[in-house]
Amino acid sequence: IERLRGRLSKSRSALGQGLLGLLGAGDLDEDSWEEIEDTLLVADLGASTTTEIVEKLREELSTRGVRTAAEARTALHDVLTQALWPEADRSVHALPHTVDGAKQPAVVLIAGVNGTGKTTTTGKLARVLVAQGRQVLLGAADTFRAAAADQLETWSQRVGAEVVRGKEGADPASVAFDSVKRGVDAGVDAVLVDTAGRLHTKTGLMDELGKVKRVVEKQAKVDEVLLVLDATTGQNGLAQARVFSEVVDVTGVVLTKLDGTAKGGIVFQVQRELGVPVKLVGLGEGPDDLAPFEPSAFVDALLD
Ligand code: GDP
Repeated sequence: IERLRGRLSKSRSALGQGLLGLLGAGDLDEDSWEEIEDTLLVADLGASTTTEIVEKLREELSTRGVRTAAEARTALHDVLTQALWPEADRSVHALPHTVDGAKQPAVVLIAGVNGTGKTTTTGKLARVLVAQGRQVLLGAADTFRAAAADQLETWSQRVGAEVVRGKEGADPASVAFDSVKRGVDAGVDAVLVDTAGRLHTKTGLMDELGKVKRVVEKQAKVDEVLLVLDATTGQNGLAQARVFSEVVDVTGVVLTKLDGTAKGGIVFQVQRELGVPVKLVGLGEGPDDLAPFEPSAFVDALLD
């Protein structure tokens, strides 16, 4: 929590301080409620979530008979946490399967538009899994961005995972296929596939990412499709999320660059729009800057 707090400092000033200032000021008239609403909107919570939170907060303040600033903070904390689905399953499913008596690796596809932090997230996630004692293989299927495979190879050396890469410009699906095949043959626990993130048109994406998934599924079950979104892009990131979720069944979101934005509130909107939980957050460029998303701790970091 301490680390999150430090990293989220910009989000805090935008949301937490504003709200607590307003709530702590004593009796709330309609103008104050409007200001609370504005604060939530400015922090990128989106219109529907904002309305819901304000209604719930009004209700909670009155049913709890809130008098003090500390009580108001607790009520606010609870309402915001509830809005983030504290009960959702946020584990990354990356355990191997047994199919017909043979071990089969878990397959995790990492999707997202280039520049969002896809490759970095793939590397960081590999590091987490390797640290848990799992054998991991990385698939460099982002064959369009010239440096992506090199970058992933650097990660593979850093974390101790094998990497499978194709020639530059190779078909992403063929590299994905080769990676998973290699993972099955080598008996690894998990294959993480860094996919190509070109989003020219929905059809193009459908062809590329849809094909990657179909081809991989010929060999092993796809356990996770993690969509990487850059928190600093706000509404734009949300629009990307919509397109991806129409093309593949996204199972979880990784929200990157939360360390560099005042727009932490995008978490609320992303979950609501996609109907899938944010599972991981990126809090920096370093190898250990990937953290599980914990609603209550996140809200604490926003408010304290
Ligand atoms: P890709 O094109 O989606 O694979 O993006 P990259 O993984 O190459 O990342 C793009 C840039 O964002 C790189 O400079 C990364 O170091 C940086 N980056 C990735 N995740 C984070 C994060 O959580 N926080 C910050 N501050 N930078 C990040």
